[in-house]
Amino acid sequence: MTVHPIACHDCDLVHHLAEIPLGGSARCVRCGAPLYRPKRDSINRTLALTLTGTILFLVANLNPFLGFRIGAQLRETILATGIYQLYQQGMTIIATLVLFTVVIVPAIHLLSLLYILVPLQMNQVPPHLTRVFRVYQFLKPWGMMEIFMLGILVSVVKLGKMATIIPGLALFAFMALIFVLAAMAATLDEHLIWQTIEHQPTRAHR
Ligand SMILES: [Zn+2]
Repeated sequence: MTVHPIACHDCDLVHHLAEIPLGGSARCVRCGAPLYRPKRDSINRTLALTLTGTILFLVANLNPFLGFRIGAQLRETILATGIYQLYQQGMTIIATLVLFTVVIVPAIHLLSLLYILVPLQMNQVPPHLTRVFRVYQFLKPWGMMEIFMLGILVSVVKLGKMATIIPGLALFAFMALIFVLAAMAATLDEHLIWQTIEHQPTRAHR
């Protein structure tokens, strides 16, 4: 039985783990640092968080983000128009960064995990699992919504002097989404996915 190799975080020694029972854990044979502990009910829990995240993502993108009241005028903006306004004002780099880290990366994260976890939940292995999971892992450092939210708060404080700011539904959905995405990444047992990939019957000879 081949198992996905796992390297010790402390001394880089590579291990090939045998199956570890729930509640058990593996330690490095050389330095004793913790290597891996199976996460309980990982597929179910991560899938539940991914579904919650998908709903929050849609709410966050389709509803007013902020409302500005100046005198009797009320202006509401959704995220997409906000990004478009940044482009129009010549802030191309910031607009691209926001589009990438706040819309594209979370969307790919949610879609890739749905693609992986829905079949696994039904004891089926989705086609191209390796490729999709690699994309998920590659993009993981690029989900930076916290920084974006911080930027929003700073500009809201500044704008607050000129207009009355009304936080929209999308703003709350985004804040909840940050926590759900973090929980989703923490609950996902990546080693379990690699094991699933390597236990697949090889397709090369078909
Ligand atoms: Zn070690």
